[in-house]
Amino acid sequence: MKLTFGLVIAAMTLPTAANAAALQDAIRADMPQLMTLYRDLHANPELSMQEVRTPAKLAAEMRKLGFDVTEKVGKTGVVAVMKNGPGPVLLLRADMDGLPVKEQTGLPFASKVRGTTLDGVESDVMHACGHDTHITAWLGTARRLAALKDKWSGTLVMVLQPGEELGLGAKAMLDDGLYTRFPKPDVLLAFHDSASLPAGVIGVTRGYALANVDSVDIDVKGVGGHGAYPQTTKDPIVLASRIVVALQTLVSRENSPFDPAVVTVGSFQGGTKHNIIPDDVKLQLTVRSYTPEVRKKLLDGIARVARGEAIAAGLPEDRMPDVKVREPYTPSTYNTEKLSARLLELFGHNFGASRVVDAKAVMGGEDFSQFWLADKTKEATIFWVGGVPKAKWDAAGGDESKLPSLHSPFWAPDAEAVISTATEALTVSTLDVLKKS
Ligand SMILES: [Zn+2]
Ligand SMILES: [Zn+2]
Repeated sequence: MKLTFGLVIAAMTLPTAANAAALQDAIRADMPQLMTLYRDLHANPELSMQEVRTPAKLAAEMRKLGFDVTEKVGKTGVVAVMKNGPGPVLLLRADMDGLPVKEQTGLPFASKVRGTTLDGVESDVMHACGHDTHITAWLGTARRLAALKDKWSGTLVMVLQPGEELGLGAKAMLDDGLYTRFPKPDVLLAFHDSASLPAGVIGVTRGYALANVDSVDIDVKGVGGHGAYPQTTKDPIVLASRIVVALQTLVSRENSPFDPAVVTVGSFQGGTKHNIIPDDVKLQLTVRSYTPEVRKKLLDGIARVARGEAIAAGLPEDRMPDVKVREPYTPSTYNTEKLSARLLELFGHNFGASRVVDAKAVMGGEDFSQFWLADKTKEATIFWVGGVPKAKWDAAGGDESKLPSLHSPFWAPDAEAVISTATEALTVSTLDVLKKS
């Protein structure tokens, strides 16, 4: 990610230096307890939509702080509400699932947990996306806001969301009445730890921040037979290879260079042996875009290319490729102009310009998008909090290709920096959004 520095701080109501220092002191005092929670969460990750221990533990903590807590929203989600006088409704979301990854960080509190995914695959489990930092900062923020009740006015809806990695959890909570059973939010906020920023640096992207994510399966059918007699077959290996090559032109020749798009064939599976032409080849694609128009163009193009190449190869109508776009897809995440610009100013003022960047969008996905798409009249932003330990960042010269990415078995963020920075950022954002008039 390329970063641009430099912010213009407008004259506006911003926290005073004394208030900022008092908040930092309070967070510093909370950190030992928060780090104990973090290490416990890290050692005990849970797979998507199977979160049980994590929500139970956090629900209990939120009750102690005086929140009105409802569990099992959208299967395993938690909604914690604090009504504190007139004013807007702010939703703060943290996601809580781990990933089927075998941890190799070597940390003393590394996970040894095993689990079974919803697809029935047995695997090791790891908080390889850093959602354990999200949960901990979410609780840290709740603790500060409960203590600072006389400094804000409005309603806080704190959401602990399951199943982000499968793109299922946000939708499940909305379908379970998140906006009807609980106060409907005017402003939506979340953060994600970042493997592309040094520890403690905040990135805010304006506009599209994360992409539409589609998974596409193509079953390329052929007519199998003996490898020595190709004339009696329709070779699906050659056909699938042609499809893969032809797909490259969807982005390079059919799409505007000003509209970000990715088509990656991540899996190509076919055949068993040197001298057998198989009956079919299975391709798996990830398809990324921002706008609905580009998404449709890519998905239509994939179906057209697959069919067109099969016709060119002489396949009969009943052996055309089977193209399936998996449901549900993860829609792109849009950071609304007003809120994202405001946060850039607020964070710049609070943390200093050297700790805040106007970050570029990425082609990763996040189902935080669902909360805003359910009502696009609202304001929403998800921001990044850098997690790369400073020494590692410096050793790599800031080149993220030399560093473990999110989802890597080696991803070990500077959790203390992520949690303290995110707690402070979420707290000052809340005090700004729910300002006492
Ligand atoms: Zn992830
Ligand atoms: Zn994540």
